[in-house]
Amino acid sequence: MAAKKILVMGTRNRKKLGELIDLLEPQGFELRTLADYPNSLEVEETGTTFTENAALKATQQARAIGEWVLGEDSGLAVDFLKGAPGVYSARFSGDGATDASNNQLLLEKLKGVPLDKRTAHYVCHATLSDPAGNIVAEAEDYCRGRILETAAGSGGFGYDPLFEVIECHQTFGELSPAVKSVLSHRSRAIRALVPKIIALMK
Ligand code: IMP
Repeated sequence: MAAKKILVMGTRNRKKLGELIDLLEPQGFELRTLADYPNSLEVEETGTTFTENAALKATQQARAIGEWVLGEDSGLAVDFLKGAPGVYSARFSGDGATDASNNQLLLEKLKGVPLDKRTAHYVCHATLSDPAGNIVAEAEDYCRGRILETAAGSGGFGYDPLFEVIECHQTFGELSPAVKSVLSHRSRAIRALVPKIIALMK
């Protein structure tokens, strides 16, 4: 049997990995995260776009660990906040931000804003780097919804309990992991990359 091809997700967030295993493992990939590599780096997200940050994460980690790395940068863009928190989604409420403090700040900033003006979308830019640190493929995709006034559900992570997928009448915190992994910005972007990943890594 051919050895499994190792693809390292450029993240330590196992919740992000969970969404992607079903997409990539059936294709013969062994998925790992940076947590499996003691020589992986803390990459500073100094870019001002999702594209720049995904490229930084993929190429720097690939060079450090000598493996194919699928880097991604993702975040939430709220229309009423002119696209904020955007690339600053993880650190929206400042140093030491947590999902709870970020969600609280988001609710404060949208206080009094009616539901029809609380539209938002998640963005994910995914970038594949070869082990030498060359970008060889990339894709970006979105998931549209709106920000509720109170959290619902405890699934997912980040802004998920506030992010309602309008057609489903439920938040990502309430929807099952199986449904999230069909609809999410991250799985859409990576699904678009799968044929390229297979062709490039074979
Ligand atoms: P990153 O790890 O630098 O890409 O930061 C992503 C941040 O965006 C996370 O910490 C969350 O705040 C937010 N985010 C991205 N994707 C999701 C998601 O699927 N659900 C909830 N929050 C997300």
